[in-house]
Amino acid sequence: MIEFVPRQGPDSAINCPAIVCDACRKQINGRGNIVWAIKVRDGNQETPEQTPLYAAHKGACDRAVEAWLMTQYDDQWVPLWEEIGVFLKQLAHNTGRDFSEDTEGEYQRLIVRHPASDPHAEIPDLPVTR
Ligand SMILES: [Zn+2]
Repeated sequence: MIEFVPRQGPDSAINCPAIVCDACRKQINGRGNIVWAIKVRDGNQETPEQTPLYAAHKGACDRAVEAWLMTQYDDQWVPLWEEIGVFLKQLAHNTGRDFSEDTEGEYQRLIVRHPASDPHAEIPDLPVTR
């Protein structure tokens, strides 16, 4: 999850933007994945649905987040992963342009379906196997 991490120390106390692992709650400053799920649609008539986006270290942490996420939705949902570096490049690109500038593509309405439980209360209790 993207968070402000409070910092105390010389000069000033500040809030530092960071990506914090949703499994182990430590900063991700290297290899990590964005983890989320989408609902498989029966044709293109239904409005697309997805979960919120979660972040995790690669390996045991992203597997734990995916395992937790899939307990929150029924079997019509499938998990997806994307490397954080790729995600951040795309996010930075899309922050500087408006989708309406894309005259060839069509951007669909999306429903973000939140899980029933709080991942920060649930994930630390899941076994993380390394
Ligand atoms: Zn982690």
